[in-house]
Amino acid sequence: DSRIMKIASAIRVIPDFPKPGIMFQDITTLLLEPKLFKDTIDLFVERYQGKNIAVVAGIEARGFIFGPPIALAIGAKFVPMRKPKKLPGEVISEEYSLEYGTDCIEMHVGAVQEGERALVIDDLIATGGTLAAALKLLDRVGVEVVECACLIELPELKGRDRLGARPLFVLVKAD
Ligand code: IMP
Repeated sequence: DSRIMKIASAIRVIPDFPKPGIMFQDITTLLLEPKLFKDTIDLFVERYQGKNIAVVAGIEARGFIFGPPIALAIGAKFVPMRKPKKLPGEVISEEYSLEYGTDCIEMHVGAVQEGERALVIDDLIATGGTLAAALKLLDRVGVEVVECACLIELPELKGRDRLGARPLFVLVKAD
């Protein structure tokens, strides 16, 4: 698809952010190009429309940029999966380990119903820890995750392996 190469080249790489040695994939430059931002959303919508998906779960923070337009286009609800202590209502949480320490992802109780079909979206998969935690959380409430979707995968980190049998769809592989 000719759209994908243009999308890939609109993603900026910033060396040594947020710390030395990290090559940060910055999607904000893609958002500055309305045609390419729309192409990005369209590629996901083309894949997921008509698949009976009731929930688009977006991971904080950049899953909140891509998730809602996809949800609106396919007629699904949008559910934010947030960092701890951000959601005001009763939450269900899932902890996961980082290189140093732990992090946690939370979702409002009652946002999803058992048996609903869901798509989980984020901008990027690195080690896969964040998406794996989101999947565990959704499993606990009986949601059927049809697929995870990211704009960017860092294949060297093998994050895909942490998602078990769950399919992962990505637009761009970065090194
Ligand atoms: P993982 O849990 O190691 O797969 O890391 C994925 C999470 O970290 C996602 O929520 C990403 O938004 C964020 N992340 C890690 N590296 C980058 C990057 O280079 N650019 C943008 N986000 C990143």
